[in-house]
Amino acid sequence: MADTNPTPFEYSCACAAGALRRRSFVALLGGAALTAGLPAWAREGVDVGPPSAASKLISAEQVEGAAAKQYNQMLGQASQKQALAPANHPQVVRLRYIAERMIPHTYEWNKHARSWRWEVNLLGNKQINAFCMPGGKIAFYYGILDQLKLSDDEVAMIMGHEMAHALREHAREQMGKNMATRGAIEIGSALLGLGSGGRLLADAGGQLLNLQFGRDDESEADLIGMELAARSGYDPGAGVTLWKKMAAASKGKQIELLSTHPSGPTRITDIEANLPKVMPLYERADKPDRRFGPPAAKDEPSR
Ligand SMILES: [Zn+2]
Repeated sequence: MADTNPTPFEYSCACAAGALRRRSFVALLGGAALTAGLPAWAREGVDVGPPSAASKLISAEQVEGAAAKQYNQMLGQASQKQALAPANHPQVVRLRYIAERMIPHTYEWNKHARSWRWEVNLLGNKQINAFCMPGGKIAFYYGILDQLKLSDDEVAMIMGHEMAHALREHAREQMGKNMATRGAIEIGSALLGLGSGGRLLADAGGQLLNLQFGRDDESEADLIGMELAARSGYDPGAGVTLWKKMAAASKGKQIELLSTHPSGPTRITDIEANLPKVMPLYERADKPDRRFGPPAAKDEPSR
């Protein structure tokens, strides 16, 4: 019987994802009105220029398909280890609430984000880490919420940063670069469909969870992330406290998030310099009607 019925976790996750999609659909009109009729120079918010040209070696659909597969595998493994937080966990409720506020503001950055099957999950893992895989597959590790004692505003800054990587297709760009370094013969045979294409894609996809972004992509994600947070009613000034906490925590130990998201020396000053561009958006934005705090001791995963 257990094999044919969904577990409570899976059932809850499906409900939450459906709720996110419904909410996204309702917010569709608002997003479209945001930019109507405005020339690029008159746009309010951060200025990051056009997206960098993504590699033609691999399509957005291929990247998103690989991401969805890996994300589901990761959730399955976490679930087996009792390390996938259920939908009613206070920190899952918190993360999904914040994500629901932010997702409608992503459409301006990537029109396909409307049809993504956004998911938000919490893993019982002590690492200081979080990610949003291509196609909107978000995960936070318990360690980042607990060890950095993140405020809602700081969670929104991380979530916005990770969403920005997905919206700007930084993973696709990076995978294309990685594939291109493997030599013309292998890529040539992949393009001709001579058999290694599947393996090449699988290899490139295998890097998704540990993909390291370049500094330019990091700066772009910082700026787009702070605008997403501001438009969603979260204080973008929290980027400063967030990265200070991250720097303090990185003294004496390795932080997983920093190893995949290399920080330039001017990260905090760049965020401060861009605050005036997004503070008016934050001040005018609808503010969250629910506020949450960092995890309480009782929220800690049992294993
Ligand atoms: Zn990053």
